[in-house]
Amino acid sequence: MRVTRLAEHVDLIDVETAGFENLIASYVLTGKSIAIIETGPTSSVPNLFAGLDRLGVNLDSVAYVAVSHVHLDHGGGVGTLLGKLPEAKVIVHERGAAHLVNPEKLWQQSKEVLGELADLYGRPEPVPPARIVAAQDGMTFDLGKNVRLRVVETLGHASHHQSYFETFGDGVFPGDAAGIYVKEFDAIVPTTPAPFRLDAALVALDRLESLKPKALYYTHFGEASDPVRRLRTYADQLRLWARVAQEGIRKRQSLQEVRREIIESDEQIRKIAKFIEANPVLSETVLNNSVQGFMQFAEKFGNVQS
Ligand SMILES: [Zn+2]
Repeated sequence: MRVTRLAEHVDLIDVETAGFENLIASYVLTGKSIAIIETGPTSSVPNLFAGLDRLGVNLDSVAYVAVSHVHLDHGGGVGTLLGKLPEAKVIVHERGAAHLVNPEKLWQQSKEVLGELADLYGRPEPVPPARIVAAQDGMTFDLGKNVRLRVVETLGHASHHQSYFETFGDGVFPGDAAGIYVKEFDAIVPTTPAPFRLDAALVALDRLESLKPKALYYTHFGEASDPVRRLRTYADQLRLWARVAQEGIRKRQSLQEVRREIIESDEQIRKIAKFIEANPVLSETVLNNSVQGFMQFAEKFGNVQS
């Protein structure tokens, strides 16, 4: 577990899920009270607590735990975490709330989609309904000392996805709405598993861009420079993938063929292709699922690009 101070009011805890560094970040936003943004999965909650301890966080002062969506790598740990946070409410999109209260269906689906990775993440524990804030776009939570956290609905990656904007440093916590940031290569890998919605994802990126963020805090992984340009580049990358997927569907290509075409035509992916191939989570899970998300979208909706 590693802790990094990114701003006077923002700290990053690398929760090192299953021993993987630089995979999942949890953020601590500090005003008078504290919000934790993204929890990581159940299995790494002990590391998250170790990080909070390292930061000297008084657990009674945690007012909110905010998750971008209920996928296990973002919100899986929230039920376990709450056991030791007596004052905290959970902020989640209103369409995600039921999955936190009763995570059984989510767990079964995660096992189907993620296979062994789901076991590495661990089974989520339920959250008592009274502790959930079923959030809507624009809701704002005041932490004191001019630190506020605002909900920004950002659908596309999931139908219950939201990002967060903190108004003290104009920082965005995109969740999965802005792809996966690989710092070593300064590259972004799309995270667009089915049922991905390209149309909604592009709207979401416009919304985040319009906030003119000065900081961008990726769950996967870390702070990225040049937020506005990066969000725009990601939108272009999604449009490129959509064109390739659309063409692949027309030619009746397989997932692996479309994947190959994407690697060839997307410069960002090409420059980290070897790194992706060497990393089973990125290669087997993220990249395959992301390509499949585009292919399903293209099959169902055709080309919606303007
Ligand atoms: Zn997700």
